Amino acid sequence: MVEIPASGIRRVAIVGGGPAGATLATLLARRGLDVVVFARNKRPPLVIGESLVPAVVPYLRELGIEPEVASYSTWKPGATFVLDPSDHMSFTFAQVRKAVTNYSYNVPRDLFDESIRQAAIRAGAKLFDVTARLERQGDTDRLRLSEETLAATQGALSGQPDLIVDASGRVRLIANALGLPTETGPRRDTALFAHLEGVPLVCEGHVHTDRMDRGWCWRIPLPGRVSVGLVVPSDFIRGFGDTIEEQYDNYLRKDGTTGAWGSSVKRLTPVLKYTNYQLVTLRGAGPNWVLVGDAFGFIDPVFSSGLLVGFDAAALLAKTIGTPSARGFEVYEKHVKDHLRAWHRVVGYYYNGRLFTLLKLGNTVRHTLLGRVMNWHFETHLPRVFTGEATTRRYSRGLLHFMTQYGLARNDPSRLQVK
Ligand SMILES: Cc1cc2nc3c(=O)[nH]c(=O)nc-3n(C[C@H](O)[C@H](O)[C@H](O)COP(=O)(O)OP(=O)(O)OC[C@H]3O[C@@H](n4cnc5c(N)ncnc54)[C@H](O)[C@@H]3O)c2cc1C
Repeated sequence: MVEIPASGIRRVAIVGGGPAGATLATLLARRGLDVVVFARNKRPPLVIGESLVPAVVPYLRELGIEPEVASYSTWKPGATFVLDPSDHMSFTFAQVRKAVTNYSYNVPRDLFDESIRQAAIRAGAKLFDVTARLERQGDTDRLRLSEETLAATQGALSGQPDLIVDASGRVRLIANALGLPTETGPRRDTALFAHLEGVPLVCEGHVHTDRMDRGWCWRIPLPGRVSVGLVVPSDFIRGFGDTIEEQYDNYLRKDGTTGAWGSSVKRLTPVLKYTNYQLVTLRGAGPNWVLVGDAFGFIDPVFSSGLLVGFDAAALLAKTIGTPSARGFEVYEKHVKDHLRAWHRVVGYYYNGRLFTLLKLGNTVRHTLLGRVMNWHFETHLPRVFTGEATTRRYSRGLLHFMTQYGLARNDPSRLQVK
Protein backbone atom coordinates (compact mmCIF):
# COMPACT_ATOMS: atom_id res chain seq x y z
CA MET A 1 0.00 0.00 0.00
CA VAL A 2 1.02 3.65 -0.34
CA GLU A 3 3.87 4.72 1.98
CA ILE A 4 3.14 8.27 3.13
CA PRO A 5 6.22 10.57 3.27
CA ALA A 6 6.79 12.23 6.69
CA SER A 7 5.93 15.63 5.19
CA GLY A 8 2.72 14.27 3.62
CA ILE A 9 1.91 14.13 -0.09
CA ARG A 10 2.68 17.51 -1.64
CA ARG A 11 3.79 16.82 -5.22
CA VAL A 12 1.73 14.56 -7.46
CA ALA A 13 2.49 13.47 -11.03
CA ILE A 14 -0.50 12.23 -13.04
CA VAL A 15 0.10 10.23 -16.21
CA GLY A 16 -2.81 10.85 -18.59
CA GLY A 17 -5.00 13.91 -19.12
CA GLY A 18 -8.26 12.11 -19.95
CA PRO A 19 -11.38 12.66 -17.81
CA ALA A 20 -10.09 10.71 -14.78
CA GLY A 21 -6.61 12.29 -14.74
CA ALA A 22 -7.79 15.85 -15.45
CA THR A 23 -10.59 15.64 -12.84
CA LEU A 24 -8.17 14.42 -10.20
CA ALA A 25 -5.70 17.17 -11.17
CA THR A 26 -8.42 19.83 -10.77
CA LEU A 27 -9.50 18.62 -7.34
CA LEU A 28 -5.91 18.24 -6.04
CA ALA A 29 -4.79 21.63 -7.35
CA ARG A 30 -7.81 23.21 -5.64
CA ARG A 31 -6.55 21.66 -2.39
CA GLY A 32 -3.25 23.47 -2.93
CA LEU A 33 -1.09 20.51 -3.98
CA ASP A 34 1.58 20.79 -6.73
CA VAL A 35 0.16 18.80 -9.62
CA VAL A 36 1.86 17.95 -12.90
CA VAL A 37 -0.13 16.12 -15.58
CA PHE A 38 1.51 14.31 -18.47
CA ALA A 39 -1.33 14.82 -20.90
CA ARG A 40 -0.24 13.40 -24.20
CA ASN A 41 -2.62 14.91 -26.69
CA LYS A 42 -2.31 12.20 -29.36
CA ARG A 43 -5.82 10.83 -29.70
CA PRO A 44 -7.61 8.74 -32.35
CA PRO A 45 -9.85 10.68 -34.79
CA LEU A 46 -12.87 9.78 -32.63
CA VAL A 47 -12.75 9.26 -28.88
CA ILE A 48 -15.03 6.59 -27.51
CA GLY A 49 -17.35 7.08 -24.50
CA GLU A 50 -19.89 9.71 -25.59
CA SER A 51 -22.93 8.84 -23.48
CA LEU A 52 -22.97 10.17 -19.91
CA VAL A 53 -25.26 8.74 -17.24
CA PRO A 54 -27.10 11.33 -15.08
CA ALA A 55 -25.00 10.40 -12.03
CA VAL A 56 -22.06 12.08 -13.84
CA VAL A 57 -23.74 15.52 -13.92
CA PRO A 58 -22.88 16.43 -10.27
CA TYR A 59 -19.19 16.01 -11.18
CA LEU A 60 -19.58 18.41 -14.11
CA ARG A 61 -21.06 20.92 -11.68
CA GLU A 62 -18.21 20.38 -9.23
CA LEU A 63 -15.70 20.98 -12.03
CA GLY A 64 -17.63 24.12 -13.03
CA ILE A 65 -18.04 23.00 -16.64
CA GLU A 66 -21.70 22.03 -16.98
CA PRO A 67 -22.86 25.13 -18.98
CA GLU A 68 -19.90 24.73 -21.36
CA VAL A 69 -20.59 20.99 -21.81
CA ALA A 70 -24.29 21.73 -22.40
CA SER A 71 -23.36 24.23 -25.15
CA TYR A 72 -21.79 21.61 -27.48
CA SER A 73 -23.61 18.44 -26.42
CA THR A 74 -26.98 16.77 -26.97
CA TRP A 75 -29.47 16.92 -24.12
CA LYS A 76 -30.17 13.37 -22.99
CA PRO A 77 -33.52 12.86 -21.24
CA GLY A 78 -33.58 9.04 -21.20
CA ALA A 79 -32.64 5.66 -22.59
CA THR A 80 -34.35 3.39 -25.12
CA PHE A 81 -33.76 -0.34 -25.41
CA VAL A 82 -34.76 -2.13 -28.60
CA LEU A 83 -35.32 -5.76 -27.64
CA ASP A 84 -36.62 -6.99 -31.00
CA PRO A 85 -37.41 -5.18 -34.26
CA SER A 86 -41.01 -4.72 -33.06
CA ASP A 87 -40.44 -4.31 -29.31
CA HIS A 88 -38.73 -1.56 -27.37
CA MET A 89 -38.75 -0.06 -23.87
CA SER A 90 -38.05 3.62 -23.23
CA PHE A 91 -37.26 5.21 -19.86
CA THR A 92 -37.01 8.87 -19.07
CA PHE A 93 -34.69 9.85 -16.25
CA ALA A 94 -37.43 12.14 -14.91
CA GLN A 95 -39.44 8.95 -14.18
CA VAL A 96 -36.81 7.77 -11.72
CA ARG A 97 -37.95 8.89 -8.29
CA LYS A 98 -35.46 10.70 -6.06
CA ALA A 99 -32.77 10.53 -8.75
CA VAL A 100 -29.71 12.72 -8.13
CA THR A 101 -30.19 14.24 -11.59
CA ASN A 102 -32.98 13.64 -14.09
CA TYR A 103 -31.12 14.41 -17.32
CA SER A 104 -27.71 14.03 -18.83
CA TYR A 105 -25.71 14.72 -22.01
CA ASN A 106 -24.27 12.92 -25.01
CA VAL A 107 -20.89 14.55 -25.54
CA PRO A 108 -18.42 14.92 -28.41
CA ARG A 109 -15.49 13.53 -26.44
CA ASP A 110 -12.73 15.70 -27.94
CA LEU A 111 -14.50 18.84 -26.70
CA PHE A 112 -15.53 17.25 -23.42
CA ASP A 113 -12.01 16.09 -22.55
CA GLU A 114 -10.68 19.56 -23.41
CA SER A 115 -13.22 21.20 -21.06
CA ILE A 116 -11.92 19.12 -18.14
CA ARG A 117 -8.28 19.79 -19.06
CA GLN A 118 -9.01 23.54 -19.08
CA ALA A 119 -10.64 23.21 -15.63
CA ALA A 120 -7.42 21.57 -14.40
CA ILE A 121 -5.32 24.41 -15.81
CA ARG A 122 -7.61 27.04 -14.25
CA ALA A 123 -7.25 25.28 -10.90
CA GLY A 124 -3.45 25.57 -11.14
CA ALA A 125 -2.35 22.13 -12.37
CA LYS A 126 0.51 22.15 -14.89
CA LEU A 127 -0.20 20.15 -18.03
CA PHE A 128 2.47 18.95 -20.48
CA ASP A 129 1.82 17.39 -23.87
CA VAL A 130 4.37 14.68 -23.15
CA THR A 131 4.41 10.88 -23.13
CA ALA A 132 5.55 9.98 -19.61
CA ARG A 133 7.94 7.08 -19.08
CA LEU A 134 8.29 5.22 -15.80
CA GLU A 135 11.16 3.12 -14.44
CA ARG A 136 11.08 0.48 -11.78
CA GLN A 137 13.39 1.16 -8.82
CA GLY A 138 15.59 -1.95 -8.61
CA ASP A 139 13.45 -5.03 -8.10
CA THR A 140 10.99 -3.24 -5.82
CA ASP A 141 7.45 -2.10 -6.65
CA ARG A 142 8.48 1.55 -6.40
CA LEU A 143 8.43 3.58 -9.60
CA ARG A 144 10.05 6.79 -10.74
CA LEU A 145 9.70 9.10 -13.70
CA SER A 146 12.51 8.75 -16.25
CA GLU A 147 15.04 11.63 -16.40
CA GLU A 148 13.66 12.77 -19.81
CA THR A 149 10.13 12.81 -18.42
CA LEU A 150 11.22 14.95 -15.46
CA ALA A 151 13.19 17.24 -17.78
CA ALA A 152 10.13 17.73 -19.99
CA THR A 153 8.38 19.52 -17.12
CA GLN A 154 10.87 22.42 -17.49
CA GLY A 155 11.41 22.67 -13.76
CA ALA A 156 7.78 22.27 -12.70
CA LEU A 157 8.96 19.02 -11.10
CA SER A 158 12.51 19.54 -9.80
CA GLY A 159 12.70 16.01 -8.34
CA GLN A 160 10.67 12.85 -8.14
CA PRO A 161 7.04 13.40 -7.05
CA ASP A 162 5.68 12.03 -3.76
CA LEU A 163 3.06 10.05 -5.66
CA ILE A 164 2.59 8.89 -9.27
CA VAL A 165 -1.01 8.42 -10.43
CA ASP A 166 -1.66 6.21 -13.43
CA ALA A 167 -4.58 7.71 -15.37
CA SER A 168 -3.30 6.43 -18.71
CA GLY A 169 -6.57 4.68 -19.63
CA ARG A 170 -6.29 1.54 -21.71
CA VAL A 171 -2.49 1.98 -21.93
CA ARG A 172 -2.43 0.79 -18.27
CA LEU A 173 1.11 2.02 -17.89
CA ILE A 174 1.78 0.83 -14.33
CA ALA A 175 -0.15 -2.45 -14.54
CA ASN A 176 1.92 -3.37 -17.60
CA ALA A 177 5.24 -2.12 -16.18
CA LEU A 178 4.80 -4.15 -12.98
CA GLY A 179 2.87 -7.07 -14.45
CA LEU A 180 -0.01 -6.53 -12.00
CA PRO A 181 -2.65 -9.29 -11.77
CA THR A 182 -5.87 -8.68 -13.69
CA GLU A 183 -9.35 -10.12 -13.99
CA THR A 184 -11.01 -10.34 -17.40
CA GLY A 185 -14.74 -10.49 -18.07
CA PRO A 186 -16.53 -13.32 -19.89
CA ARG A 187 -17.28 -11.49 -23.15
CA ARG A 188 -14.93 -11.62 -26.13
CA ASP A 189 -16.51 -8.80 -28.10
CA THR A 190 -15.22 -6.36 -30.65
CA ALA A 191 -16.64 -2.84 -30.63
CA LEU A 192 -16.65 -1.13 -34.04
CA PHE A 193 -17.85 2.45 -34.07
CA ALA A 194 -18.27 5.45 -36.34
CA HIS A 195 -20.36 8.59 -36.72
CA LEU A 196 -23.29 8.41 -39.15
CA GLU A 197 -25.87 10.69 -40.74
CA GLY A 198 -29.50 9.72 -41.33
CA VAL A 199 -29.90 7.32 -38.39
CA PRO A 200 -33.54 7.20 -37.18
CA LEU A 201 -34.27 7.45 -33.46
CA VAL A 202 -37.18 6.14 -31.42
CA CYS A 203 -36.88 9.00 -28.88
CA GLU A 204 -35.01 12.25 -29.48
CA GLY A 205 -31.82 12.57 -27.43
CA HIS A 206 -32.08 9.09 -25.88
CA VAL A 207 -29.13 6.74 -25.90
CA HIS A 208 -30.44 3.69 -27.81
CA THR A 209 -29.30 0.13 -27.15
CA ASP A 210 -30.44 -2.31 -29.83
CA ARG A 211 -30.30 -6.07 -29.33
CA MET A 212 -28.96 -7.57 -32.57
CA ASP A 213 -28.92 -11.10 -34.04
CA ARG A 214 -25.50 -11.36 -32.38
CA GLY A 215 -24.36 -8.72 -29.92
CA TRP A 216 -25.90 -5.27 -29.64
CA CYS A 217 -25.50 -1.77 -30.99
CA TRP A 218 -25.54 1.72 -29.49
CA ARG A 219 -27.04 4.82 -31.10
CA ILE A 220 -25.87 7.98 -29.35
CA PRO A 221 -27.33 11.18 -30.84
CA LEU A 222 -24.75 13.97 -31.06
CA PRO A 223 -25.19 17.40 -32.66
CA GLY A 224 -25.58 16.81 -36.43
CA ARG A 225 -24.75 13.09 -36.33
CA VAL A 226 -25.31 9.85 -34.48
CA SER A 227 -22.54 7.72 -33.01
CA VAL A 228 -23.27 4.07 -33.82
CA GLY A 229 -21.24 1.29 -32.23
CA LEU A 230 -21.57 -2.44 -32.89
CA VAL A 231 -20.58 -4.63 -29.95
CA VAL A 232 -20.34 -8.08 -31.43
CA PRO A 233 -18.53 -11.37 -30.65
CA SER A 234 -15.10 -11.05 -32.30
CA ASP A 235 -15.22 -14.39 -34.17
CA PHE A 236 -18.66 -13.55 -35.60
CA ILE A 237 -17.94 -10.06 -36.96
CA ARG A 238 -14.86 -11.25 -38.87
CA GLY A 239 -17.21 -13.11 -41.24
CA PHE A 240 -18.58 -9.82 -42.60
CA GLY A 241 -15.51 -8.62 -44.51
CA ASP A 242 -11.75 -8.26 -44.63
CA THR A 243 -11.58 -4.70 -43.32
CA ILE A 244 -13.27 -3.20 -40.28
CA GLU A 245 -15.16 -0.79 -42.58
CA GLU A 246 -16.60 -3.75 -44.56
CA GLN A 247 -17.48 -5.59 -41.35
CA TYR A 248 -19.21 -2.54 -39.88
CA ASP A 249 -21.15 -1.51 -43.00
CA ASN A 250 -22.18 -5.07 -43.92
CA TYR A 251 -23.36 -6.16 -40.48
CA LEU A 252 -25.28 -2.92 -39.96
CA ARG A 253 -27.17 -3.62 -43.21
CA LYS A 254 -27.73 -7.35 -42.68
CA ASP A 255 -28.75 -7.57 -39.03
CA GLY A 256 -32.43 -8.26 -38.34
CA THR A 257 -32.80 -5.10 -36.19
CA THR A 258 -30.45 -2.48 -37.65
CA GLY A 259 -31.04 -3.74 -41.23
CA ALA A 260 -34.27 -1.69 -41.27
CA TRP A 261 -32.21 1.53 -41.45
CA GLY A 262 -28.61 0.32 -41.99
CA SER A 263 -28.71 0.72 -45.80
CA SER A 264 -29.99 4.28 -45.85
CA VAL A 265 -27.36 5.91 -43.60
CA LYS A 266 -24.17 7.75 -44.56
CA ARG A 267 -20.93 7.06 -42.68
CA LEU A 268 -19.12 10.34 -41.92
CA THR A 269 -15.95 8.96 -40.32
CA PRO A 270 -13.59 6.00 -40.49
CA VAL A 271 -14.49 3.00 -38.31
CA LEU A 272 -12.60 2.53 -35.05
CA LYS A 273 -12.08 -0.80 -33.34
CA TYR A 274 -11.83 -1.69 -29.62
CA THR A 275 -11.23 -5.17 -28.17
CA ASN A 276 -10.28 -6.73 -24.81
CA TYR A 277 -11.80 -4.00 -22.71
CA GLN A 278 -13.44 -6.06 -19.92
CA LEU A 279 -10.37 -5.79 -17.71
CA VAL A 280 -9.87 -4.97 -14.01
CA THR A 281 -6.48 -4.61 -12.30
CA LEU A 282 -6.61 -6.41 -8.97
CA ARG A 283 -4.12 -4.14 -7.21
CA GLY A 284 -4.96 -0.44 -7.21
CA ALA A 285 -2.05 1.06 -5.25
CA GLY A 286 1.62 0.44 -4.40
CA PRO A 287 4.36 2.15 -2.35
CA ASN A 288 4.40 5.38 -4.40
CA TRP A 289 1.70 4.90 -7.00
CA VAL A 290 -2.04 4.54 -7.41
CA LEU A 291 -4.41 3.81 -10.31
CA VAL A 292 -7.53 5.71 -11.41
CA GLY A 293 -10.05 5.51 -14.30
CA ASP A 294 -9.70 2.88 -17.01
CA ALA A 295 -6.11 2.27 -15.89
CA PHE A 296 -7.72 0.65 -12.83
CA GLY A 297 -10.55 -1.08 -14.65
CA PHE A 298 -13.34 -0.97 -17.18
CA ILE A 299 -16.25 -3.39 -17.44
CA ASP A 300 -18.43 -2.91 -20.51
CA PRO A 301 -19.96 -0.14 -22.60
CA VAL A 302 -23.58 -1.30 -22.28
CA PHE A 303 -24.80 1.02 -19.49
CA SER A 304 -22.29 3.85 -20.13
CA SER A 305 -20.66 3.31 -16.75
CA GLY A 306 -17.01 4.06 -17.68
CA LEU A 307 -16.90 7.79 -17.03
CA LEU A 308 -19.00 7.52 -13.87
CA VAL A 309 -16.56 5.00 -12.38
CA GLY A 310 -13.67 7.31 -13.34
CA PHE A 311 -15.22 10.50 -11.88
CA ASP A 312 -16.32 8.72 -8.70
CA ALA A 313 -12.83 7.27 -8.20
CA ALA A 314 -11.08 10.58 -8.95
CA ALA A 315 -13.22 12.41 -6.36
CA LEU A 316 -12.49 9.85 -3.63
CA LEU A 317 -8.81 9.70 -4.57
CA ALA A 318 -8.49 13.50 -4.28
CA LYS A 319 -9.82 13.31 -0.71
CA THR A 320 -7.56 10.36 0.08
CA ILE A 321 -4.43 12.11 -1.19
CA GLY A 322 -5.45 15.35 0.53
CA THR A 323 -5.61 13.69 3.96
CA PRO A 324 -3.37 10.69 3.37
CA SER A 325 -3.16 7.52 5.42
CA ALA A 326 -2.36 3.93 4.47
CA ARG A 327 -5.88 2.97 5.57
CA GLY A 328 -7.36 5.67 3.31
CA PHE A 329 -5.69 4.14 0.24
CA GLU A 330 -6.97 0.70 1.23
CA VAL A 331 -10.48 2.12 1.45
CA TYR A 332 -10.00 3.76 -1.96
CA GLU A 333 -8.82 0.53 -3.57
CA LYS A 334 -11.73 -1.45 -2.11
CA HIS A 335 -14.28 1.20 -3.10
CA VAL A 336 -13.24 1.20 -6.76
CA LYS A 337 -13.09 -2.60 -6.93
CA ASP A 338 -16.57 -2.86 -5.36
CA HIS A 339 -17.93 -0.30 -7.81
CA LEU A 340 -16.49 -2.19 -10.78
CA ARG A 341 -17.77 -5.51 -9.39
CA ALA A 342 -21.27 -4.06 -8.99
CA TRP A 343 -21.31 -2.97 -12.64
CA HIS A 344 -19.99 -6.36 -13.64
CA ARG A 345 -23.08 -8.03 -12.15
CA VAL A 346 -25.54 -5.50 -13.57
CA VAL A 347 -24.00 -5.77 -17.04
CA GLY A 348 -24.30 -9.57 -16.75
CA TYR A 349 -28.08 -9.17 -16.25
CA TYR A 350 -28.28 -7.37 -19.59
CA TYR A 351 -26.40 -10.06 -21.48
CA ASN A 352 -28.24 -13.02 -19.87
CA GLY A 353 -31.66 -11.44 -20.48
CA ARG A 354 -32.69 -11.27 -16.81
CA LEU A 355 -32.90 -7.48 -16.50
CA PHE A 356 -35.32 -6.94 -19.36
CA THR A 357 -37.33 -10.05 -18.54
CA LEU A 358 -37.85 -8.49 -15.10
CA LEU A 359 -38.69 -5.04 -16.45
CA LYS A 360 -41.18 -6.46 -18.96
CA LEU A 361 -42.78 -8.55 -16.22
CA GLY A 362 -43.10 -5.37 -14.13
CA ASN A 363 -45.03 -3.75 -16.99
CA THR A 364 -47.44 -6.71 -17.08
CA VAL A 365 -48.11 -7.10 -13.35
CA ARG A 366 -48.47 -3.38 -12.63
CA HIS A 367 -52.20 -3.79 -13.45
CA THR A 368 -52.78 -6.35 -10.67
CA LEU A 369 -53.42 -5.39 -7.02
CA LEU A 370 -50.07 -6.75 -5.78
CA GLY A 371 -48.40 -5.22 -8.82
CA ARG A 372 -49.79 -1.78 -7.97
CA VAL A 373 -48.45 -2.02 -4.41
CA MET A 374 -45.01 -3.24 -5.49
CA ASN A 375 -44.79 -1.06 -8.55
CA TRP A 376 -44.02 2.17 -6.70
CA HIS A 377 -41.14 0.51 -4.92
CA PHE A 378 -39.65 -1.12 -8.00
CA GLU A 379 -40.06 1.97 -10.14
CA THR A 380 -38.02 3.88 -7.57
CA HIS A 381 -35.10 1.48 -7.58
CA LEU A 382 -34.80 -0.65 -10.73
CA PRO A 383 -34.47 2.10 -13.39
CA ARG A 384 -31.51 3.43 -11.41
CA VAL A 385 -29.46 1.12 -13.60
CA PHE A 386 -29.98 3.71 -16.34
CA THR A 387 -29.13 6.76 -14.22
CA GLY A 388 -25.99 5.09 -12.88
CA GLU A 389 -27.23 5.00 -9.28
CA ALA A 390 -28.12 1.31 -9.03
CA THR A 391 -24.48 0.48 -8.35
CA THR A 392 -23.75 3.23 -5.83
CA ARG A 393 -26.86 2.76 -3.64
CA ARG A 394 -26.69 -0.39 -1.61
CA TYR A 395 -30.46 -0.93 -1.33
CA SER A 396 -31.15 -0.46 -5.07
CA ARG A 397 -28.25 -2.79 -5.85
CA GLY A 398 -29.52 -5.46 -3.44
CA LEU A 399 -33.10 -5.25 -4.73
CA LEU A 400 -31.90 -5.56 -8.32
CA HIS A 401 -29.81 -8.64 -7.54
CA PHE A 402 -32.64 -10.24 -5.58
CA MET A 403 -35.30 -9.59 -8.21
CA THR A 404 -33.20 -10.75 -11.17
CA GLN A 405 -32.52 -14.00 -9.29
CA TYR A 406 -35.94 -14.71 -7.78
CA GLY A 407 -38.47 -12.35 -9.34
CA LEU A 408 -38.80 -13.68 -12.89
CA ALA A 409 -41.65 -16.13 -12.08
CA ARG A 410 -41.85 -18.66 -14.92
CA ASN A 411 -40.45 -16.37 -17.57
CA ASP A 412 -37.46 -17.67 -19.48
CA PRO A 413 -34.75 -14.97 -19.57
CA SER A 414 -32.86 -16.65 -22.42
CA ARG A 415 -35.48 -15.24 -24.84
CA LEU A 416 -33.98 -11.80 -24.26
CA GLN A 417 -30.35 -12.77 -23.87
CA VAL A 418 -27.72 -11.08 -26.01
CA LYS A 419 -25.78 -13.73 -27.91
C1 LIG B 1 -16.42 0.34 -26.70
C2 LIG B 1 -16.46 1.32 -25.56
C3 LIG B 1 -17.54 2.20 -25.44
C4 LIG B 1 -17.60 3.08 -24.34
N1 LIG B 1 -18.69 3.91 -24.22
C5 LIG B 1 -18.81 4.67 -23.09
C6 LIG B 1 -19.93 5.52 -22.90
O1 LIG B 1 -20.81 5.64 -23.75
N2 LIG B 1 -19.99 6.23 -21.73
C7 LIG B 1 -19.02 6.16 -20.77
O2 LIG B 1 -19.14 6.79 -19.71
N3 LIG B 1 -17.92 5.42 -20.97
C8 LIG B 1 -17.78 4.68 -22.10
N4 LIG B 1 -16.65 3.96 -22.32
C9 LIG B 1 -15.57 4.06 -21.33
C10 LIG B 1 -14.86 5.41 -21.38
O3 LIG B 1 -14.45 5.68 -22.69
C11 LIG B 1 -13.69 5.38 -20.43
O4 LIG B 1 -14.12 4.86 -19.19
C12 LIG B 1 -13.07 6.75 -20.19
O5 LIG B 1 -12.64 7.36 -21.37
C13 LIG B 1 -11.88 6.56 -19.25
O6 LIG B 1 -11.28 7.78 -18.95
P1 LIG B 1 -9.77 7.80 -18.45
O7 LIG B 1 -9.45 9.21 -18.15
O8 LIG B 1 -9.57 6.78 -17.43
O9 LIG B 1 -8.92 7.27 -19.72
P2 LIG B 1 -8.78 7.89 -21.17
O10 LIG B 1 -9.97 8.65 -21.57
O11 LIG B 1 -8.38 6.74 -22.05
O12 LIG B 1 -7.56 8.90 -21.06
C14 LIG B 1 -6.24 8.45 -20.88
C15 LIG B 1 -5.29 9.47 -21.46
O13 LIG B 1 -3.96 9.12 -21.10
C16 LIG B 1 -3.10 9.37 -22.20
N5 LIG B 1 -1.87 8.59 -22.00
C17 LIG B 1 -1.71 7.25 -22.05
N6 LIG B 1 -0.43 6.93 -21.78
C18 LIG B 1 0.22 8.09 -21.55
C19 LIG B 1 1.57 8.40 -21.22
N7 LIG B 1 2.51 7.46 -21.08
N8 LIG B 1 1.90 9.70 -21.05
C20 LIG B 1 0.97 10.69 -21.20
N9 LIG B 1 -0.32 10.45 -21.50
C21 LIG B 1 -0.68 9.15 -21.67
C22 LIG B 1 -3.95 8.92 -23.37
O14 LIG B 1 -3.45 9.46 -24.58
C23 LIG B 1 -5.30 9.50 -22.98
O15 LIG B 1 -5.41 10.85 -23.39
C24 LIG B 1 -16.56 3.10 -23.40
C25 LIG B 1 -15.46 2.26 -23.57
C26 LIG B 1 -15.40 1.38 -24.62
C27 LIG B 1 -14.21 0.46 -24.76
